Amino acid sequence: MKVPLLDLKGQYLSLKKEIDEALIRTAESQMFILGPEVEAMEKELCDYLGCKYALGVSSGTDALLLALMALNIGQGDEVIVPTYSFFATAGVVARLNGTPVFTDVDPLTFNMDPKDLQKKITPKTKAIVPVHLYGQSADMGPIMEIAKKHNLYVVEDGAQAIGVQYKDGVKVGNFGNIGCFSFFPSKNLGCFGDGGLVTTNDPELYERLKIMRVHGGKPKYYHKIIGGNFRLDAIQAAVIRVKLPHLDSWSESRRKNADLYTKYFLEVGLAEGVGHLEFNEKNKVLLPKAVYNPGDGSVKNYHIYNQYVLRVEKRNALRKFLQDSGIGIEIYYPVPFHRQECFAYLNAKDEDYPVSNCACNDSFAVPIYPELSPEQIKYVVDKIAEFMKNSDQFPMECKHCDCMKGR
Ligand SMILES: *Cc1c(COP(=O)(O)O)cnc(C)c1O
Repeated sequence: MKVPLLDLKGQYLSLKKEIDEALIRTAESQMFILGPEVEAMEKELCDYLGCKYALGVSSGTDALLLALMALNIGQGDEVIVPTYSFFATAGVVARLNGTPVFTDVDPLTFNMDPKDLQKKITPKTKAIVPVHLYGQSADMGPIMEIAKKHNLYVVEDGAQAIGVQYKDGVKVGNFGNIGCFSFFPSKNLGCFGDGGLVTTNDPELYERLKIMRVHGGKPKYYHKIIGGNFRLDAIQAAVIRVKLPHLDSWSESRRKNADLYTKYFLEVGLAEGVGHLEFNEKNKVLLPKAVYNPGDGSVKNYHIYNQYVLRVEKRNALRKFLQDSGIGIEIYYPVPFHRQECFAYLNAKDEDYPVSNCACNDSFAVPIYPELSPEQIKYVVDKIAEFMKNSDQFPMECKHCDCMKGR
């Protein structure tokens, strides 16, 4: 059996007629950049996210870059980001000559650890960029409290979390000054190329973001400020408009798939339940937990599983075994920011990041996309069980796993 990490064809075929019509409509309009299609998309996304303003931009990375530019981040400014995320989260800070400062992450959610955030604040701190990793919210309650106390900007990296709700049912992107999203094809709401979105509830910031999206010119060719080309193509907006009404049902399917994984892992005896943090005889695979699931249906998209991430002690050997079995898996992320060569100049202390170091060594994502069949999920679990039965022949890989003890 083949189980790819992601299969976008199935989703396209299910909406082919509508998407093809939208593509032809855009071709016939010959209006390729921004314009009415992008404006209509922005309005629909405002309604969906419950925010006042939204602007289509060229990518998730550019959403983050534009957000920090609009907040005037530059030389000498410290911006606090989790050390465990996609590179763009930290890269944009350095590109503006700001100083990325890293926090460790929570072992259960892989998101910014608010206790570590508090420790990393200095008089130079200007902004915090919490990431809603893998499709679940960062702990925005304490993060916003710390931001308010120290008068800091908050830019939410929601690239993997569009539509995700925190404890109180508020959607991510509405907590900080600016929310950033990505329409990269592998995200839950993906377009046919690169694309992204910034959101805000602040009218002044909205004006600045809008002007900076088109080089900072207002009126055109007259520049009080410097922006860039951060425009979204109409074709991408047309595709997003077709897909948006289906987003919640896709997220629901991802949650159902996650529940099936849990059920099968329990059946084969590899785990006792979700959210365990220590490896032992009864928990050879650590399963992800949706921490903001109230269980009574009051919070809907508490987790949208952009990725379904497992942890095992012999990850690299298992990876090879699964790949040889036709199963697509990926390691998000093998190297934390504080260990990246390009950030060596920051002299971050490796021992300050035990949870992230550990996660980089033992975690990996298995397929979770909505169109996955129960048979495919069972196959993945059975293959992992087969590996575990013979795993004695492989040496231990993760040398950091003591970091999970006592948490
Ligand atoms: C994908 C992603 C980005 C960047 O989005 P692009 O559209 O690929 O530029 C930023 N942050 C996180 C957490 C992401 O997953």
